[in-house]
Amino acid sequence: MALAFDEYGRPFIILREQESTTRLRGLDAQKANISAGVAVARILRTSLGPKGMDKMLQNPDGDITISNDGATILEQMDVDNQIGKLMVELSRSQDYEIGDGTTGVVVMAGALLEQAERLLERGIHPIRVAEGFEISSRIAVAHLEQIAHKFEFSATDTEQLVQTCMTTLSSKIVKRCKRSLAEIAVKAVMAVADLERKDVNLDLIKVEGKVGRRLEDTELIHGILVDKDMSHPQMPKQIEDAKIAILTCPFEPPKPKTKHKVDIDTVEKFQTLRLQEQKYFDDMIQKCKDVGATLVICQWGFDDEANHLLMHRNLPAVRWVGGVELELIAIATGGRIVPRFQELTPEKLGKAGLVREKAFGTTKDRMLYIEHCANSRAVTIFIRGGNKMMIEETKRSIHDALCVARNLIRNNSIVYGGGAAEISCSIAIEAAADKYPGVEQYAIRAFADALDSVPMALAENSGLQPIETLSAVKSQQIKDNNPCCGIDCNDIGTNDMREQNVFETLIGKQQQMLLATQVVKMILKIDDVISPSEY
Ligand code: ADP
Repeated sequence: MALAFDEYGRPFIILREQESTTRLRGLDAQKANISAGVAVARILRTSLGPKGMDKMLQNPDGDITISNDGATILEQMDVDNQIGKLMVELSRSQDYEIGDGTTGVVVMAGALLEQAERLLERGIHPIRVAEGFEISSRIAVAHLEQIAHKFEFSATDTEQLVQTCMTTLSSKIVKRCKRSLAEIAVKAVMAVADLERKDVNLDLIKVEGKVGRRLEDTELIHGILVDKDMSHPQMPKQIEDAKIAILTCPFEPPKPKTKHKVDIDTVEKFQTLRLQEQKYFDDMIQKCKDVGATLVICQWGFDDEANHLLMHRNLPAVRWVGGVELELIAIATGGRIVPRFQELTPEKLGKAGLVREKAFGTTKDRMLYIEHCANSRAVTIFIRGGNKMMIEETKRSIHDALCVARNLIRNNSIVYGGGAAEISCSIAIEAAADKYPGVEQYAIRAFADALDSVPMALAENSGLQPIETLSAVKSQQIKDNNPCCGIDCNDIGTNDMREQNVFETLIGKQQQMLLATQVVKMILKIDDVISPSEY
């Protein structure tokens, strides 16, 4: 800060730019960052597991989201702090890569950060801590590979897949219907899966929702669902062996591109114009009929006259279908999107075994089912539920279940859930720590302790005594040499997760460990935080 005078001798103060920024260095910077990360992780800790709590979030427009999914909660939380944002990113990466385990990864990262803080306070250099964590994560990933089980399924026997999807759904709000939803998710994935290439294209699974009925009425449709109805109430509601013309050109007389003016000064001229227009419509409809179309799906609308004519000439039509849906219909029915009537040919028509219109509720609320499509294996999951929030949460939960099934088709290795895999890794890392003579040994032990926090959180959220439960399960794992012992969250009476059918995918768990370690290492390496000051 300096005092200066202008040309009239008036004093003014010069503030140097740096002074408008705040700066944290060294241990202070690391501690501030750690506490920001831990704060975010604490929020999610209570949501982990089958008995985890849900969070209710309200956005600035007043819309409410109730969710149990880590990625969704963090996404909606509008975190301000930069380190907090890293945790949001962490959850998002797990969501992108794996699709499940988004809460677990943040809880794990939070626990690692807490452990790191203790080590820093004891004077261990952050780089050594980071190195120790890196070594431990490698041990954990290798150990997971060892304790993993292959699980067998085939196109006809999918019971195991259903069980795994049920584990994912059992911690969500929709757990009431976990069996039926898991079955739907598995059937959908199997319908689009290429088992030989071990590949699943999730784009072919469309998830739609409509308020009404109950969650139990959620169904899988082997085809496509369009939130539209036939353009005229007297058109047929059901068309078998439909040949579909998919049009992006409007049903109306062409308009010149330049400005134009038509002078109509006699009744005859008006009549001629009207007849001309009618002829256009007639020709267009004729064109569709000539190529053999029995249903027209249009991107654009058409006026009442065209609508009436379509009904009269017995050519059912659907209007105002969005671009994305039009594309999906074209892929599923093996048709081509036609931009001009002149280009319409029989080969460009899409084919579907059955197209039907179904009414919902008492209002004019109808949807179009396009089923038994020619080419594709595209399917739609149609979610029903009491309110919009429920449907949105079900969509997110189904997404998780679909991802789990897809991951298992890609790689059919599983590890046991309920904290069993974490406890087993913790024991393995603890045992390996002694082999490292350097300071890393402390960091490796700390990593093992951090892993314990996942089963502890599961126990705590289920109303159990965390420390007692964990030590009992841990000693049982060592005594029986059984890496399947976990936390009995639902009080079923056995700790063996194999009996409880609580699985998680191997790649999901490995990814959790790797991602959490990466983020913690990144946070530890920051020793200088320069940010604009508050005012
Ligand atoms: P995420 O978003 O990380 O998947 P969840 O809230 O779905 O978080 O919780 C997943 C955790 O709950 C996993 O560690 C899983 O093993 C555990 N879990 C799920 N179902 C059960 C169960 N029935 N018994 C014990 N643990 C379970």
